[in-house]
Formats: sequence, structure tokens, C-alpha cells
Amino acid sequence: MAKLAQTAGLTEIQQEILSTVRTFVDKEILPHATALEHADAYPQDIVDGMKEMGLFGLTVSEEFGGLGESLLTYALVVEQIARGWMSVSGVINTHFIVAHMIAHHGTDEQKQRYLPRMAAGEVRGSFSMSEPDLGSDVAAISTKAVADGDDFVIDGAKMWLTNGGTSNLTAVLVRTDEGAERAHQNLTCFLVDKPEGYGEVAPGLTVPGKIDKMGYKGVDTTELVFSGHRVPAAQILGDRRGGGFAQMMDGVEVGRVNVAARACGIAIRAFELAVEYAQQRKTFGKPIAQHQAIAFKLAEMATKVEAAHLMMVNAARMKDSGERFDVEAGMAKLLASEYCAEVTQESFRIHGGYGYSKEYEIERLMREAPFLLIGEGTSEIQKTIISRGLLKEYKLR
Ligand SMILES: Cc1cc2nc3c(=O)[nH]c(=O)nc-3n(C[C@H](O)[C@H](O)[C@H](O)COP(=O)(O)OP(=O)(O)OC[C@H]3O[C@@H](n4cnc5c(N)ncnc54)[C@H](O)[C@@H]3O)c2cc1C
Repeated sequence: MAKLAQTAGLTEIQQEILSTVRTFVDKEILPHATALEHADAYPQDIVDGMKEMGLFGLTVSEEFGGLGESLLTYALVVEQIARGWMSVSGVINTHFIVAHMIAHHGTDEQKQRYLPRMAAGEVRGSFSMSEPDLGSDVAAISTKAVADGDDFVIDGAKMWLTNGGTSNLTAVLVRTDEGAERAHQNLTCFLVDKPEGYGEVAPGLTVPGKIDKMGYKGVDTTELVFSGHRVPAAQILGDRRGGGFAQMMDGVEVGRVNVAARACGIAIRAFELAVEYAQQRKTFGKPIAQHQAIAFKLAEMATKVEAAHLMMVNAARMKDSGERFDVEAGMAKLLASEYCAEVTQESFRIHGGYGYSKEYEIERLMREAPFLLIGEGTSEIQKTIISRGLLKEYKLR
């Protein structure tokens, strides 16, 4: 058989990109990931390497200096990177979402101003919907922007910004109260230019510091506090007041394929570690892989890796062909993240007591996998999206 998680029908360019990224992961990420993770250190050298490879512009169109690649290429690259270290994929994920939102919803001026510098990795994007009191219930956002001359004045607190300190452009969803009856139509997305760093980075704009997390280390996750911060009206994404919710959801939808891909990457790595360890470790006179209970675990893990990969690829291909794919993206995210947690847990068990030691890579994966159950919408929210789509499609006539 071929190795797990192969993808049929890739172009030569896609194969070339993936082979380059795989080599980069094996040489530049895997040997350093666990030490960097334990130190909670930002992987600057790795990020510089990704910049050199053009990964920040992978999906930005060639017109704006990017590589113009598809969501599928991006997702497969992310899967490889997450196999090395999931946090590294987190560095490019929010950037990719913001570039996608600007490319699909921005004004011509916004595209010209941001996309070439985003493709070069000079402008680095983060996105902010969540607040201390809400994550799933996005329409309940309370951070407010009020018009004042040619500017808007923003007040409120945002929570959980991945790359909140290291990005210099944040797409922020806030309430502008358009008088619409439906809550989500009163939300607007602003492109907030901000210096990198922590503390009061601009008048009325504070990044309090890194949130200390269970896993997903290295990459910074922060709060963002607005206190009378002024943003020009020209920074409204696509000049569409009240259109922010739909724009953000479009970004999050492609982000879901990305999270599925990250889950696939961790699951592949957890399987690789397990299948190697199971052939080395001996109990009762033979390698544990020869005990049927362990061999069956490997069989189930590999089947889950394969299923998750196929669903992720299917969702990406649907998006690339221009079809509606909210249900498929939700299914891929749900299945891949749940399977990732299960495969990682099984790999941990196969490692016996050593899996509990920080010297073994599986210890890191065990702390990384749970984030994928939460980010870009929890499993419960995916099931809400999937069931809503199904009930519409299968509505009684
Ligand atoms: C490390 C990290 C990085 C993040 N990065 C970002 C980022 O870059 N930008 C950003 O905007 N956000 C980010 N988030 C926030 C993330 O998107 C939210 O945490 C997530 O959407 C869940 O929201 P919540 O934490 O408020 O949970 P809640 O919405 O409070 O949910 C709590 C529980 O209730 C369940 N639940 C909620 N509503 C329902 C319902 N209707 N039916 C059934 N169950 C329900 C949920 O599934 C969950 O189990 C990040 C989070 C983490 C942990």
C-alpha cells in the first residue's frame, strides 16, 4: 500500500510544492518543535523559512505577487506543517483567512494596499471575532464602533486573537448598529492597522500580553482592548457597513478546512510515532505491535487518518470548484478534529508510561489536539451547521 494520506490527481506544481514543504518540515521543523514548544518560544527561524518559500502568499493571486494556489494546495501544505508542529500552521492560518477576506470582499484599493505586502509576509494578518463573553454566539458581539467625522471610534474588549501580538493587521468584527432587525446585520468588519508588540501599541489600542495556554505554544494568543481607538471609515472591509458577519463567516469557513488539515497533520504524526514505537517496544517476549490489541489499535488509527484526510480534501476541492461547501467544511472539521483527538489518545496509550514523559513527542501532541475541537467553531457548532444544511436539503415537500 501507499503511505497514508495520499491525494490523487494533484498537478505537478502541487506535488512540487508539497515535496518542498515536506522536506522543510522534516529538516527545519520536526527536529526543533518539541524544544521550542516546551520553551513557549516563537519559531522565528521557521517563520523566516516559510516567508522565503512564499508560503504567506500561497493563495494570494499572482496579480498581487502571490503564488495563486488553491485552497486544496493550501490545506495540504498545512497538513504537512501541522505534522511537524501545529503551532507553525497557526502562524499562517489567521494570515491566510484575512488575505482571503480581503481578496474576496475588499475594495480595489484595499486589495492593492494589502495583498502584495501580505504575499511577501510584510503585512501579517490576525482576525478577531471572539470576546470574553462570547465565542460561538458571534452575533452577540458587544465591542462597538461609533462614527465620528471620517473615523469610527472603537470601544470594547476582544479575546483569543491568534497572532495578536505578532500580526500588524487585524480584521476585527464589531457592532455598528445599522438599525437592522437581525443582530448579525449590525456587525461590521474593520481592517485595523496596528504595530506588532504588546502594551498600548497605538492610542487606545492595547495588546495586554500572551495568554498562557495548555498547548499551541510558541504562537501568541492575546486579548485586544479598544478604548476610544480611532479607525478611518475607509478601513471598513469592502466599504460594507453591516456586512461584517457574512465576510467573517466566509473567512471562518475556509478556516475550517484549514483546521481539519491541521487535525489531519497531528493525527498522521501521532500514528507515525505509534507505529514506530509499537515495533520497538517489547513485552512478553515480542514487539507490542504483535499483540492483536495493539495491532488493531493501529488499524483503527490509520483508518481514521485516511477518512479524515479524504473528507478534508473533498471539502477543499468543493470550495475550489466554486460550490457551496458549508456542510462539507463543517463535516471535515468535525470528523478530522474528533478523530485527531482519538488517534492521539491511542498513540499516547501505545507509548505506555513513556507517553507521559516530556521527552516523547506524543506528550506535546496530546496537549495540541484538544485545541482543534474548539478553534473555528466547536464540534457542537459544526453539528449545528451540518444539521441545518441537511434539514434544508432534505426538507419535506
Ligand atoms: C487557542 C485559541 C485560539 C483562538 N484564536 C481565535 C482567533 O484567532 N480569533 C477569534 O476570533 N477567536 C479565536 N478563538 C476563540 C474560539 O473561536 C472560541 O473559543 C470558540 O469559538 C468557542 O467559543 P467560547 O470559547 O466562547 O465557548 P462558548 O461559545 O462559551 O461555548 C462553551 C460550550 O458550549 C457549547 N455551546 C455553545 N453554544 C451552543 C449551542 N448553541 N448548542 C450546543 N452547544 C453549544 C460549545 O460547543 C462549548 O462546548 C481561539 C480560541 C483558542 C482557545
